[in-house]
Amino acid sequence: MSLFESVRSQMPAEIPAQLERMDAFWTSYRQGSQEIAKVVQTTSEKLGDKDFDAIVCGGTLGIFIACALQRRGWRVAIIEQGILRGRAQEWNISRKELNAFLELDLLTEAELETAIATIYNPARVGFQGGKDLWVRDILNIGVDPVYLLEILKQKFLDAGGILLEKTAFKQAITYADGVAVEVALTPSPSPVGEGDKRITGRLLLDVMGHFSPIVKQARSQVQGNIKPDGVCMVVGSCAKGMPEKSYGDLIYSFTPIQKQCQYFWEAFPAKDGRTTYMFTYVDADPQRPSFAELMEDYLFWLPKYQEIELNQLEFQRVLFGFFPSYKQNPLQTPWDRILQVGDSSGMQSPLSFGGFGAMVRHLQRLTDGIDTALRCDLLAKENLRSLQPYQPNLSVTWLFQKSMSVSVNQQIESDRINYLLGVTFKSMEKLGDRVLYPFLQDVVQFIPLARTMLAMSIADPVLVLKIIQQVGIPTLLDWLKHYLGLGAYSFLNQIGQRLEPAIGNFLPEQKYQWQRQIDAWYYGSGGDYEM
Ligand SMILES: Cc1cc2nc3c(=O)[nH]c(=O)nc-3n(C[C@H](O)[C@H](O)[C@H](O)COP(=O)(O)OP(=O)(O)OC[C@H]3O[C@@H](n4cnc5c(N)ncnc54)[C@H](O)[C@@H]3O)c2cc1C
Repeated sequence: MSLFESVRSQMPAEIPAQLERMDAFWTSYRQGSQEIAKVVQTTSEKLGDKDFDAIVCGGTLGIFIACALQRRGWRVAIIEQGILRGRAQEWNISRKELNAFLELDLLTEAELETAIATIYNPARVGFQGGKDLWVRDILNIGVDPVYLLEILKQKFLDAGGILLEKTAFKQAITYADGVAVEVALTPSPSPVGEGDKRITGRLLLDVMGHFSPIVKQARSQVQGNIKPDGVCMVVGSCAKGMPEKSYGDLIYSFTPIQKQCQYFWEAFPAKDGRTTYMFTYVDADPQRPSFAELMEDYLFWLPKYQEIELNQLEFQRVLFGFFPSYKQNPLQTPWDRILQVGDSSGMQSPLSFGGFGAMVRHLQRLTDGIDTALRCDLLAKENLRSLQPYQPNLSVTWLFQKSMSVSVNQQIESDRINYLLGVTFKSMEKLGDRVLYPFLQDVVQFIPLARTMLAMSIADPVLVLKIIQQVGIPTLLDWLKHYLGLGAYSFLNQIGQRLEPAIGNFLPEQKYQWQRQIDAWYYGSGGDYEM
């Protein structure tokens, strides 16, 4: 009997069916047999009167931007295929990042405190064969998505926002002066589309996640296919009955490479027990393990990891998912009047599954930018692309993902990745918190990265050569381009900060473009990170 079968009665009844559905999707995803429907069409005709300024498709992170825009006076509608409700599983983030909600006046101090479900300290970073490292106040806050989304939903509605739940995006037509969105009730009341209707707006925000139908079409148009360059697979649970531990693990590994996968773990105290995730960086090759196999490995290693017997656990939730990542991230919209926000935009690091954190970090920038774009009617694709600009500090993380994964036919020592990470983090620790802390929060900066690489080359030059061999020369050359870009952005960010006061007198369109450029240098160089 499989381990999964043996603990089936200890987990919610719907999990086996969900796991099966996930594997069916994962299989078709890897085979590249997904249908790419043409859900966006364009016409140069005029639309005339519009119902809304912004139509936000997808409510999970969509409510953040929808609420911020509605409260600035725009007419906003949210189209959500289900009920707009947060998931039970907490989102982890660092405390300072949450200030964005206060700065945008979306939450009061008291509401923000209520949204915080858990706080833990310290957190461990460790790799098999190396020394554990302890950090504080990094991704140690568990936010309750149920409360957060509910309060923002109420504020959105109180401010006059329109929420269409159980209503799915079907297709959109962009016009010279607006966008028409066809939506359908879910489940459909009749097979002939009786519940379908059309709503119109000036701008469509696609917040439908990684697997958004709009994104599929956009990627196939922009890059010729939708196959991701990398995938992070994750399985995990939140369970009662785990031994009490006040600390968490940010990233921890205690096994060598197996089945061409290096498993990493995360663990932290949660409202309903203890959360543990096992994740691995792979690609979308059909030979990669299924989620059922990954779940077996998770259940096999979990007792050793948390010093517990499986039969002592009461699983509150069992979680699994995968995050595709692309070298061409963030996605550059191919259409006027359509912009990706949240996971669909690909603006989060390929290393973490911190899409909520990335959205919060960029919320002020996106709100200000979209607000100005609406005010000045700068909704052409060139204007919108500058809201999801190239970020060299995101692109350089590609090499890290590649060096933490093994291709299906690649032969490397089974301890290579653990050893590499051990050396890297030891070097960063020696260089101090200013190097280590931003990196752990998904913010890569030029000087800290240069110092880390130098320290590693001195500590173990042979390892560096092995990594070059592992990732390959083309990847390295590509990376070098982004690394130099990161240096240039860091320099330009210094100039940008001085230029900012001067652009106040520019014409609206010039001002908009300059502000986006200054933002791009600032975020793209990791200038937004505060110790
Ligand atoms: C196991 C796990 C743990 C995670 N932990 C963290 C964490 O600790 N910290 C963190 O920062 N992030 C974490 N994340 C990532 C985070 O959950 C995502 O980044 C976030 O949910 C992305 O939100 P989104 O709205 O962009 O996309 P999604 O979550 O995919 O939501 C898409 C929304 O669009 C709706 N939708 C989809 N299609 C349609 C349609 N056709 N019409 C209308 N609506 C539609 C969906 O119903 C949904 O509401 C985790 C993710 C997982 C899976």
